[in-house]
Amino acid sequence: MLVVQKYGGTSVGTLDRIDAVAKRVAKTKEAGHDVIVVVSAMSGETNKLIDYAKHFSKSPKQREMDMLLSSGERVTSSLLAIALSEIGSLAVALSGGQAGIKTDNSHTKARIESIDRTCIEKIIKKGSIAVIAGFQGITELGEVSTLGRGGSDLSAVAIAGALEADLCEIYTDVDGIYTTDPRIEPKAKKLEKISYDEMLELASLGANVLQTRSVEMAKKLNVNLVTRNSFNDNEGTLITKEENIMEQPLVSGVVLDKNQARITLRGVIDKPGIAAEIFRKLSKTDINVDMIIQNVGQDGTTNLGFTVPQNELEIARNAMKSLNASKSVEYDSDIIKVSIVGVGMKSHSGVACTAFDTLFKEGINLEMISTSEIKISIVILAKYGELAVRALHAAYKLDK
Ligand code: ADP
Ligand code: ASP
Ligand code: MG
Repeated sequence: MLVVQKYGGTSVGTLDRIDAVAKRVAKTKEAGHDVIVVVSAMSGETNKLIDYAKHFSKSPKQREMDMLLSSGERVTSSLLAIALSEIGSLAVALSGGQAGIKTDNSHTKARIESIDRTCIEKIIKKGSIAVIAGFQGITELGEVSTLGRGGSDLSAVAIAGALEADLCEIYTDVDGIYTTDPRIEPKAKKLEKISYDEMLELASLGANVLQTRSVEMAKKLNVNLVTRNSFNDNEGTLITKEENIMEQPLVSGVVLDKNQARITLRGVIDKPGIAAEIFRKLSKTDINVDMIIQNVGQDGTTNLGFTVPQNELEIARNAMKSLNASKSVEYDSDIIKVSIVGVGMKSHSGVACTAFDTLFKEGINLEMISTSEIKISIVILAKYGELAVRALHAAYKLDK
């Protein structure tokens, strides 16, 4: 079997942890499998490097940021390869570029364009373990690029897809995918399986246990994806096709997204083209606008509200400066988005009603609502976030 194992920041967070990972990797190899390892930087390292850059500049060049941030993963990949050699397993550390990961030129959020398998295959043929620095690749011009936060998940899935691996294991600090973040609700239950689509929703709605793009790619390339705990031998969660799951629960999970901010425009002129003008301005800045609500117009004006990632609020504020489309603009980062996800919702009614009722009973006001076939998202005041998660988790009996 060809196995790709990805170890996240906490799993390689100390030298002792790297030693423990080396032993786990060696064990997989000794069991007769070919192994490719992808590693994150030590936990906290990427944030630390970003802070270092901020010390010198408010807006450092993205190219330089990629040179800087990619270093964290190179440290852990080299150390792990050294540790593996020391316990008698042949291993070769590779940067993303050396591993053949080719990306476009969008520094700090590059997209993988192709993977040249030659180098990794050569290493495996020799009976060695390829230990690849996650989160990075190389552009056509030979520049180092990074794949966006949490991007080592994407490196692992992309490599598993390109090399047609039998299994891609994502090792982290919890046993798998839970019905909600177990750090918020200790009663959360680990799921044995979850569909790609539900996982995609959970990830994009804020469950950072897997990077959204990695799930997208796993679905596209049909990668057998498992998340597991690097600290124990418990079975993890399989992320798979919907048809492989016998019984779909109504609701699979509850997610909290803290990285949300709201922009409200009051007294917007109610005529065609205004919304287009506003969102054209924002799209030029590459900001992901999420929920959009426009009220029914009155007296020729209306109110328009939408959410953006909180860490992009300043960019949005700058973009809005040159607009003259409303009487006033309010910026509000004291909000949070809670969402419920479940494929089973497709064929059931009353799911939203339960959510609204639950939040009402907790005295939580609904600021914004949006729904799709398999999710309901509600914006509420930030201070109610964890309370809402626990209440909804109980309301849909996810702790049972
Ligand atoms: P890594 O460093 O291994 O990439 P992350 O911190 O990115 O790990 O992701 C793991 C964390 O995701 C867990 O510690 C957990 O708190 C959080 N998390 C959020 N939602 C969920 C969920 N539904 N199931 C499991 N973990 C979740
Ligand atoms: N080290 C990077 C980050 O913190 C990538 C990763 O861990 O996946 O975002
Ligand atoms: Mg992660």
